[in-house]
Amino acid sequence: MSFKNKVAIVTGAKQGIGLGIALAFAKEGCRVVVTDIDQKGAEKTAKRIEKLGVKAMAVACDVSKKEEVDLLMQQTIKRFGRIDILVNNAGIYPFVPFAKITEGDWDKLIDVNLKGTFLCSQAAAKQMKAGGKIVMISSIASLVGFEELVHYCASKGGVNGMVRAMALELAAKKINVNAVAPGAIETPGLSGGMAADAKKQMAVGIPWQRMGKPDDIANAVVFLASEKAEYITGQVLVVDGGWILR
Ligand code: NAP
Repeated sequence: MSFKNKVAIVTGAKQGIGLGIALAFAKEGCRVVVTDIDQKGAEKTAKRIEKLGVKAMAVACDVSKKEEVDLLMQQTIKRFGRIDILVNNAGIYPFVPFAKITEGDWDKLIDVNLKGTFLCSQAAAKQMKAGGKIVMISSIASLVGFEELVHYCASKGGVNGMVRAMALELAAKKINVNAVAPGAIETPGLSGGMAADAKKQMAVGIPWQRMGKPDDIANAVVFLASEKAEYITGQVLVVDGGWILR
């Protein structure tokens, strides 16, 4: 796979899956725009990438705000002159019982997970040339239900719908649009506060007998962003150690 001269933007890349994806692109020699709502966190990731001998730029961006997303794309073009890959990874997943989800909870989650994905994709697609790749980080929660995640399941189901419709429209420009749907992945957001016992308990329900690592997701994303995935578009690739097979 050759990522020479390519530029990837990864949102929510301070930690967890986004950090894993940003590092995986850097290891392939791809320049990375590391963006997160947290500027300091983004800078930390960018420094790790530069230590690998690859160029990186840290940009603070709240993906739910159009002005910030537009600025992110402008800064990327100013520094690197191109956008080849966008990974829509930034997302939130607060567990709240259905009856207790407020209108504010709903709006915030949909703004980040669904509107943010739309805003970044639209702005990046304008700059992409043939061969551009957009990869969404969806979730198995787009395919099966999870208690206390009604708003989250709705948002990720929406992401899958967006992938299919965008893939149809962007096929004319030869831009691929796909998603990776992770299962339970060890990240600060999901398992940061989880006791070792709780992680073991979670692994029992997974045929592969372990939680996933950010690298498990990053490997799938790098493949979908590579020229080897040239004829794949509009698809949702489940990476969950077999969790939803039964
Ligand atoms: P995480 O550890 O919470 O990291 C997410 C990152 O995104 C954080 O740095 C967070 O910053 C940032 N972020 C939050 N809101 C943002 C916004 N509005 N704009 C830009 N950045 C923002 O999460 P993760 O577990 O790595 O999950 C990453 C993605 O994978 C999400 O889309 C999630 O839904 C999906 N996913 C995760 C799992 C899993 O098991 N972990 C499973 C399926 C799908 P702050 O920390 O400052 O908020």
